[in-house]
Amino acid sequence: MDFSDKFYAKNAASARAWAETEDRKKPEHREARKPAEPKKGICEKCKKEALVRPHRSREADMKDGAASYGVVVHYYCEDCYPKSRRDTPTEPPLSSKQLKSLLRGAKKNLH
Ligand SMILES: [Zn+2]
Repeated sequence: MDFSDKFYAKNAASARAWAETEDRKKPEHREARKPAEPKKGICEKCKKEALVRPHRSREADMKDGAASYGVVVHYYCEDCYPKSRRDTPTEPPLSSKQLKSLLRGAKKNLH
């Protein structure tokens, strides 16, 4: 069964490599899509009691001399909550010229 063993090992290795590339492709903050409900708690930054929201971040953890990576949840009040780039509007409003061309395109699609 030498051949099938090698075949299996090769497949497992390529599957592992594939899984690793898949993992790297994932966007860092997929969980940030829906905002978490604020609740009463102690803010980890200013140590004040306030309405806090959980903030997930990837952090390295040292345990028994081995580093491991995991998602750590921190609770911050509204003032200390790290602002995500998503919150800042980056798209400028459409100019009237852009709007007109958009409408023209839409009309063309109707006929
Ligand atoms: Zn705070």
